[in-house]
Formats: sequence, structure tokens, C-alpha cells
Amino acid sequence: MTKNKEKLLLHVCCGVCGAWIPKMLSEKFEVSLYFFNPNIWPKEEYERRLDATKKAVENLGIEVMEGEYSEADWLSAVADFKDEPEGGKRCEACFDFRLAETARFAKENDFDWFASTLTVGRNKKAEIINPIGEKWAEKFGISFFIADFKKGGGQAKTDEESKRLGLYRQNYCGCIYSLRRD
Ligand code: SF4
Repeated sequence: MTKNKEKLLLHVCCGVCGAWIPKMLSEKFEVSLYFFNPNIWPKEEYERRLDATKKAVENLGIEVMEGEYSEADWLSAVADFKDEPEGGKRCEACFDFRLAETARFAKENDFDWFASTLTVGRNKKAEIINPIGEKWAEKFGISFFIADFKKGGGQAKTDEESKRLGLYRQNYCGCIYSLRRD
């Protein structure tokens, strides 16, 4: 008798980050994607990344669900840290905002696990992201998949697969502050 796979909701931030991780996790879990990124500015860029995410998994039979583009709530969540450099407290607040909602949505929709592609990013520290995931997992009574997806060749596989699929590749992290050229 084949055992049903557990359900995992994977927060995904763009097409590139969605190129290899969902495929890899699908070997063990029944994976759905959650595109919850109200940090992305402007809205046209948000739509581009959402389209690239859908393209990344279109041949895998993986569903992509879209969260609310709650831009005002995100801006208020990071307001105290808006002038911090990239990688600082603004980014921690940004991860916290997105992972809290992913955990809530996962719990409400009967997922067993949640995870995020964020750690595959070159400048995204797993030692900051994983404890945030664990915190929300505990709060909502759900499991968080602890990972550093850039390790073990994950970053190279992500690059390779995203190039093979011809996915849109952005040149800034996402928010209006990361776009600022000063
Ligand atoms: S730089 Fe990236 S991680 Fe940091 S606040 Fe902006 S969008 Fe979020």
C-alpha cells in the first residue's frame, strides 16, 4: 500500500526560486505554492514574478495560490526599519511578515508543513529565516521545514533549472527600498 504524502505549502518569492525547490520537495511531499509577496514593488514587477512562478511549475502539476497584495500592511510592518541596509532589520521584518501569513494560510488550509524558498537567495541568511519559520510554526501548531536551500548544490541547481526554463530574472530583491539607487 502506498502511503499518502504529507502536504507542504511552499512560500515562493519569484520564478527563479521556484525553479528547482518545488520539484525537489515533491519527491517527499505533496507540494503547493503560495505566492505571498506584498513587498514587491511596483505592481507590474509583482505580476512578472507571479507569472514566472507559474511558468516554473506549469509542467509539474503543482498548484500556485496567490496571497493578498497587502502593500500598505507590508509598508507598515517594515516602517521602523525602512532605512536599514539590505540584509538588516528591514529584511527580518519582511521575512517575518511573509512567513507569518504563510503559516496562518497553511494551517487554515490543512497543510502539515510549510516552508519558504527564501534561503536559496545568495544574501538570505538561513540562520535568520529558519528561527522565524519555527516561531510561526509553533504559534500556529504546524511543522516548518528547516532548510538552507542554497547549500548542497541547491543554488547551482536553481540557476541551471531557471535558465533551462527561460524564467524572468530580476535584478533587485523586491521592495521599493531595494530598488533605490543612491
Ligand atoms: S530587500 Fe528584500 S528581503 Fe529586504 S525588505 Fe526588501 S524585499 Fe524584503
